Amino acid sequence: MTPLAELLARRIRVTGPLTVADYMAEALGHPEHGYYKRADPFGLAGDFVTSPEISQMFGELLGVWCAAVWNAMGRPSPVRLVELGPGRGTLMADALRGTRKAPGFHAAIDLHMVETSPLLRRLQEETLRGTGVPLAAQWHDSFAEVPEGPLLLVTNELFDALPIHQFQSRGGRWHERMVGLDASGNGLTFGLGPPGASLALVGAKASLLAEGSIVEACPAGIALAADIARRVVAHGGAALIIDYGHEGGAVGESLQAVRRHGKHDPLDEPGSADLSAHVDFGALARAAREAGAAVYGPIPQNLLLERLGIRVRAAALKKKATEAQAADIGAAMERLLRLEQMGTLFKALAVASPQLPVPPAFDETADP
Ligand code: SAH
Repeated sequence: MTPLAELLARRIRVTGPLTVADYMAEALGHPEHGYYKRADPFGLAGDFVTSPEISQMFGELLGVWCAAVWNAMGRPSPVRLVELGPGRGTLMADALRGTRKAPGFHAAIDLHMVETSPLLRRLQEETLRGTGVPLAAQWHDSFAEVPEGPLLLVTNELFDALPIHQFQSRGGRWHERMVGLDASGNGLTFGLGPPGASLALVGAKASLLAEGSIVEACPAGIALAADIARRVVAHGGAALIIDYGHEGGAVGESLQAVRRHGKHDPLDEPGSADLSAHVDFGALARAAREAGAAVYGPIPQNLLLERLGIRVRAAALKKKATEAQAADIGAAMERLLRLEQMGTLFKALAVASPQLPVPPAFDETADP
């Protein structure tokens, strides 16, 4: 039993079962034993590999996207360049390296990183220092702490880590799924709360679903998308949200634990595995639109990268590479273009000020 499993079992004995959201928040973010507080989970030696860790081209192309949006904004200075959940800091390092030559861009940037893990903050600082780009970042625990102002925001695989609630229908009513204790009184197990779960969270479509169906909701993600939207409406700018997930209406359980590149029981050894769930891009888009922003996509990650010129970038890198390196560059590009997790492709959603033209790589959207 992990120390966190013991702590949670004790808490459940005293105050009763936890929502899945409470459980997820503790397993990932407990100040001492939480997954993201303990170690560096990325890369081949870690638990999973993310796009920025596959190739420098990912961050470079996102940097170019930011510089292009900044030009379309009328080149405000300062502009808050923000990343949420930067992991090792690789995406931002590559974005900054890749935009060194964009005239005036770096001089305008006020850099902000939103990261809850002290260990990863140190790693991000080192990675940024390694670029030689003379920009000092500020770190924050939440997006709300980032000062107001014109905004360029990028984030990859943060929304999938935000706590979700789960609901299950039983006897024609909706119950919140809870984490409680098994018959032994020590092990964690799933159960159901009392009937009458909040319909606002379960969602309107839920009434049509069959007995036993599970639906998920991520109020933290919806609130964050609305906050981002409010900022770009008030001060100008745009955000690029990349993650794996669906466009809404999908039913079923997607909470998953991953450790050392393999699947894992989400309730086994909390704090030792990454927990994530499919992102409901439809819900994020609705929240951002309700806050007055223009929303584009989601489009598949491969379309985003193709339209931002990944093939041209790969060809340029290959010219300066050895034969073995060139093969690696080609393989990394193919991997980024086919990246999938839990059976869904990665997607990109843009949330922008309605005053801006359509952001690079996205299509004009007919407002739903
Ligand atoms: N974007 C990186 C890392 C993705 S993993 C990449 O693509 O490689 C998720 C990241 O979000 C980690 O850096 C984690 O510490 C951070 N994180 C998790 N929950 C967070 C929260 N509530 N607020 C801010 N950062 C969070």
